[in-house]
Amino acid sequence: MDVQRTGPMPDRLRPSAAARPEPSPRYRVDLNESPFEPSADVREAVRAATAGLNRYPDVADSELAEAVAHHLDVPVAHIAPGAGGVAVLHQTLTALADRGDEVVYPWLSFEGYPILCDLAGARRVPIPLAGADHDLDAMAGAVGERTRAVVVCNPNNPTGTAVRRPALERFLDRIPRHVLVVIDEAYREFVRDPEVPDGIELYRRRPNVAVMRTFSKAYGLAGLRVGFLVAHPPVAEAVRRATLPFSVTAAARAAAVASLRAQQEVRARVDTITARRRRLWTALRGLGWSLPRAEGNFLWLPLGAQAVDFGRRCRQRGVHVRVFPGHGVRVTVGEEAAADIFLSLAAEYVRPPEDRRSA
Ligand SMILES: *Cc1c(COP(=O)(O)O)cnc(C)c1O
Repeated sequence: MDVQRTGPMPDRLRPSAAARPEPSPRYRVDLNESPFEPSADVREAVRAATAGLNRYPDVADSELAEAVAHHLDVPVAHIAPGAGGVAVLHQTLTALADRGDEVVYPWLSFEGYPILCDLAGARRVPIPLAGADHDLDAMAGAVGERTRAVVVCNPNNPTGTAVRRPALERFLDRIPRHVLVVIDEAYREFVRDPEVPDGIELYRRRPNVAVMRTFSKAYGLAGLRVGFLVAHPPVAEAVRRATLPFSVTAAARAAAVASLRAQQEVRARVDTITARRRRLWTALRGLGWSLPRAEGNFLWLPLGAQAVDFGRRCRQRGVHVRVFPGHGVRVTVGEEAAADIFLSLAAEYVRPPEDRRSA
């Protein structure tokens, strides 16, 4: 969720062609969306669902939960669906935290976390990253009396790094049993490092571990809003109870179920993205960039003070990247042409401009 995103501008607010300062972006690589449109099967499932749009979605319908449970080989009672990963996290925090309770999370990380803490009335406890990585020691050390949940973003948005198995297991060993660890795996499908554990594997052995997944990224259904939490019964039940009634639409469910059935196609698309990610990452390294590992469908350029300037230059060239002022720029691995433009600009920013002038 990038909350700054704005919808299309009403015509009366739109600058005239002559006054328009910049060309409108051709490539939206700022929200980690899939560049691929839904497959024919998914579109057909959505089309079929439109026949019942005069009706509320059936709250008792468990087809999505059953399909997810089957896909992950977990009990259906352990699934709590929601209208996107953000809604699932919202449900989780509101179910868990009372006013004044604390939620520990990494920072820089997903921009939704502080907002969702506020909505739940929980106290934010952001723990600064160590470089581009989670500081798991500091996160475990920040758990106190009032901590109800700790969020691990694996891989981390926006830095792209992922926590590996031994470090994560050691961390989980330190977290008290009554504190829920929510592993945000929005980008799990893109992970290629075999040392990065599958959260589902950890949840199976640890009752206080829950895993969030979404259909927005690898499955390319960001516009339909559907995701889920996998958790042990007392948690899963509470998170289901915290769902806003009717928030997961029939069309969203149908699309999610259809895309779970289309595993082969989803995998092929994810493979295409990870191959492009490798190409882009390697090219940037070749230019002299020192980049963190990238396990999501995006790369992180630690531009520091130059981030805003770089983002503006990209936009001028029709490539809309996500700028974190003072920190860096996140670029989604999407269209190849966008990557080429991004690369040509990144080549100019390998060293600070002072160096370039004196060189
Ligand atoms: C995209 C994303 C989500 C969830 O997005 P939804 O579209 O609400 O499913 C959750 N966490 C992270 C880290 C994300 O990047």
